[in-house]
Amino acid sequence: MRPTGRPHLGNYMGALYNWVHLQQDYDCYFFIADLHALTTDYADTHLLKENIKEVTLDFLATGLDPGRCVIFQQSQVMQHAQLFALFSMITPLSWLERVPSYKDQQEQLREKDLATYGFLGYPLLQAADILLYKPDFVPVGADQVAHVELTREVARRFNQFYGPHSKTAEKHILEAVSDKEKMAALEDDPQAFAAILPEPKALLTPSPKVPGLDGRKMSKSYNNTIMLSDPEPDVRAKLKTMVTDPARIRRTDPGNPDVCPVFDLHKIFSSEETQRKAAHGCRTASIGCIECKSWVADAIVARIAPIQERRRDLESRPSVIDDVLANGRDRASKRAQQTLDEVQQAMGLA
Ligand code: SF4
Repeated sequence: MRPTGRPHLGNYMGALYNWVHLQQDYDCYFFIADLHALTTDYADTHLLKENIKEVTLDFLATGLDPGRCVIFQQSQVMQHAQLFALFSMITPLSWLERVPSYKDQQEQLREKDLATYGFLGYPLLQAADILLYKPDFVPVGADQVAHVELTREVARRFNQFYGPHSKTAEKHILEAVSDKEKMAALEDDPQAFAAILPEPKALLTPSPKVPGLDGRKMSKSYNNTIMLSDPEPDVRAKLKTMVTDPARIRRTDPGNPDVCPVFDLHKIFSSEETQRKAAHGCRTASIGCIECKSWVADAIVARIAPIQERRRDLESRPSVIDDVLANGRDRASKRAQQTLDEVQQAMGLA
């Protein structure tokens, strides 16, 4: 997660909420991606240090447990930058230029000069972030699958060049380089390229599209957010302004919850019983939108209040952050160095 300020409900449901569950079943590594923050926000870094602290607090307050997973700050584990540099030697420029987000983000963030080497290379930094830990899975939303695919391609290329069977493999590559069928057959043959860097799979985590107050996707850039840190009165006041079924003009008009963004929030946060009650009350006009919104506010407040409580407790013990990040740095570095040693040896650098 990039340290770019406090998360809103959309960020929370898209990432942290899932991660807290994943740590029960997998050995997980979660990091604060400060190097990635520099790929777009390099010109002004005065908030970076504070934001790193804030994200770490959010990790812990939402339930990531340093006893169950590894939490660290990316730039403190130098192996990320080292593997990124090595990968940059072998990665064709065209692979990076065709990543959809490269052009999209340049369009969207016109106020920033993103014609930089670091911005073009950030999917490769992600590949290094991932492959250092040789994971089976990378938990992502559907919009990030292309980046995991690039990571798989980088791993494949590395293994082809430097895997234990690379002498044989090199010969096959030279023969097959313009022959896609042969190439595919080789990739299916586990003996052809022994993998120093196993190809990870995308683990598609459900990330419900959380609507913002104006009905569009919740996003800081639309100024339509409910923040994880918003106090209860703010949550309730914000929800009162949220758009509803536009056809329900008067209290006596029946509404249609299927087209109402408030009901989308019910689907994410409210119990099934409340959802049934709200849908029925809306369709029969037996409840008003104010009442319906107050129920969704109850559900959201119930979800975020314990997180805010934990956050306040953590804020009163500032050394916890330093301890968690130092411990995470040591554990991540140890694991990452094993991979880097293998990579360097395979490349003839050891
Ligand atoms: Fe939306 Fe609820 Fe109003 Fe129906 S009653 S239009 S679901 S806010």
